[in-house]
Amino acid sequence: MNIPKVLEIKKIIRESATVKTFIFDWEVEEEIPGQFMMIWNFLDEKPMSLSMINSLDNQIGFTIRNVGEFTGELHKLKPGDKLGIRGPYGRGFEISGSKILAVGGGVGMAPLAALSEEASRRDVKVDIISAAATQDELLFMDRLKNTNKLRACTDDGTYGFCGFGTELADAMLKSNNYDMMVTCGPEVMMSKVAHLADKYHLPAQFSLERYMKCGVGICGQCCVDSTGWRICKEGPVFWRDELKLITEFGKYRRDSAGRKEMF
Ligand SMILES: Cc1cc2nc3c(=O)[nH]c(=O)nc-3n(C[C@H](O)[C@H](O)[C@H](O)COP(=O)(O)OP(=O)(O)OC[C@H]3O[C@@H](n4cnc5c(N)ncnc54)[C@H](O)[C@@H]3O)c2cc1C
Repeated sequence: MNIPKVLEIKKIIRESATVKTFIFDWEVEEEIPGQFMMIWNFLDEKPMSLSMINSLDNQIGFTIRNVGEFTGELHKLKPGDKLGIRGPYGRGFEISGSKILAVGGGVGMAPLAALSEEASRRDVKVDIISAAATQDELLFMDRLKNTNKLRACTDDGTYGFCGFGTELADAMLKSNNYDMMVTCGPEVMMSKVAHLADKYHLPAQFSLERYMKCGVGICGQCCVDSTGWRICKEGPVFWRDELKLITEFGKYRRDSAGRKEMF
């Protein structure tokens, strides 16, 4: 579906001071956690991960952090206001095995919330680490508390484990048997998850973000060195073995003009 559907916002959930979830009625067909959609506010268009895929009520949701002009405009909207939505796009997470460790940092928790709920429906256990800088920025503590084992983690120790999500993940990997890891969040954090996956010989999937324009694999904006893979098409989710070929992973990304931005 490459033409945006203009839809009313059904509901808005305030997740934290800077993060809101926008819910829409949508005929759920084959949407997969880890896939994204392009959100159009009639001036600009940006990619957002599906953070909720509810096939019973036919609703989808996007969890959006207010970081700039576009997201600031979205945060001013009210239920009943309209946005254009096209997608779903890209390759999502594969859910396999019987026990998964999910490590989410900040708004990177968005696709992992959808993944965790889908895994529960399939009787696959997911231990989730929701990491944030501070307590007020922790996401989905209520929403996910009943579905799976949820551990909170804050950099400043204001709630849950004091330290980085990857430190807690290391401790959990020592004392549990997992079949797979999944992660989404700052790339520095995901680089550490990649090391953990290697250390514990576990398959792992990573959801990457790069600057996107078309979202459908035409413009080449989101190609990565040195494979040339398009994050919008071959990704955004990659397995650890594939990630080893993406030489810019953990080092740099490109801005809207193609200039390198070091992490
Ligand atoms: C596959 C994918 C899924 C995403 N899912 C989410 C999500 O669930 N929730 C969420 O809050 N954000 C998500 N993002 C990031 C989001 O698309 C943009 O970062 C954000 O909209 C930028 O907001 P802004 O334009 O208000 O801020 P700006 O100040 O204009 O941008 C802030 C930063 O965001 C990045 N950015 C800006 N425009 C884009 C763009 N078109 N494509 C990619 N990155 C951009 C750049 O690094 C920029 O420096 C996702 C990005 C990708 C690629």
